[in-house]
Amino acid sequence: MPENETAPSAAPVTTGAADRVRARIDLAALRANVRALRERAGDAGVMAVVKADAYGHGMVPCARAAREAGAAWLGTATPQEALTLRAAGIGGPVLCWLWTPGGPWREAVEADVDVTVSGMWALREVIGAARAARRPARVQLKADTGLGRNGAPAADWPDLVAAAMAAEADGLLKVTGLWSHFACADEPGHPSIAAQLAEFHSVLAVAEAAGVRPEVRHIANSPATLTLPEARFDLVRTGIAMYGVSPVPQLGGPADFGLRPVMTLSATLANVKRVPGGHGVSYGHHYTTPGETTLALVPAGYADGVPRHASGTGPVLVAGKWRTVAGRVAMDQFVVDLGGDTARAGDEAVLFGTGEHGEPTAEDWASACGTIAYEIVTRIGARVPRVYADDAAGTG
Ligand SMILES: *Cc1c(COP(=O)(O)O)cnc(C)c1O
Repeated sequence: MPENETAPSAAPVTTGAADRVRARIDLAALRANVRALRERAGDAGVMAVVKADAYGHGMVPCARAAREAGAAWLGTATPQEALTLRAAGIGGPVLCWLWTPGGPWREAVEADVDVTVSGMWALREVIGAARAARRPARVQLKADTGLGRNGAPAADWPDLVAAAMAAEADGLLKVTGLWSHFACADEPGHPSIAAQLAEFHSVLAVAEAAGVRPEVRHIANSPATLTLPEARFDLVRTGIAMYGVSPVPQLGGPADFGLRPVMTLSATLANVKRVPGGHGVSYGHHYTTPGETTLALVPAGYADGVPRHASGTGPVLVAGKWRTVAGRVAMDQFVVDLGGDTARAGDEAVLFGTGEHGEPTAEDWASACGTIAYEIVTRIGARVPRVYADDAAGTG
């Protein structure tokens, strides 16, 4: 293969129960979460956000399950992700939003994927693609109402809308959506929330005055969907809530929002041994056994997505109790001190899950590592097999 082509990364070989580590994905929980979010959304539709391999849960199985539970739209960051959904045979409305010049505009137009345009360069590229494909593109215009990331700033919005409407009049595209994104929806009461909503109403008014008749107007992510009914418009874009992780931890855990965690990360102990007091543990000897004790080796490390920042702090359920990562997390493994307790190689260590069986949750790992639970689930590595469980298949 030429040097500038990339090989598809190999899916990890799974050997079932003999896997050293696995992420169990409960698709029945995911469906139940989508149904709960549909209820929350009222008259608005739900877009299941499946970017970043469905936040580490596996994009295609999660997208299918979300559709089965009634998600009207699917959302991805990159066009490549959206095209991967189409290649897997997934139809229906799909929106993607993170483009760079030279992106696969024509492929997206031909695959009937809604594309997001935040500026003139992108509008020019999508118009070129529509001409080449000889069919109108489905274009959603994005406004920056205060996040300061992507989206057209207010000063550029009228010109972008006018140029898009001129292209629509020429039959080159249809403006299917108008949208924006919150900066601080996870901090209820933050003054930027009301300011962004007011700005969103004003950009919608500008577009509607210019003749835009969108299918969908949307601004709400998971935290806004759960806390801000006035932000729902026609569609809510839910990612993290669908995976059963709390988007607003200060207001409660997933159960408080009627959600169930979807991912359980567990490993099989690779070694258990007695050692004397004063024994250094793992690289750098940042942990030393306080007395004679039992050490258990958990064969999962930062290459699997266990944060190295969990060194000395990450919680793990082993032999019926929470243990703490002893010393450093290495690339492939870490150690826990079982104190006076016993375990055997082959026993299960649960890093995080629903919390219903006494195990830590992704939120617990986030607070142990000084990050957010979004990062904990999303960073689980490609080397970890995803095992799909579907306890309630067909009940949805
Ligand atoms: C990731 C993302 C979402 C989903 O956010 P959650 O907080 O996970 O619900 C929605 N919209 C955009 C533009 C995003 O990038």
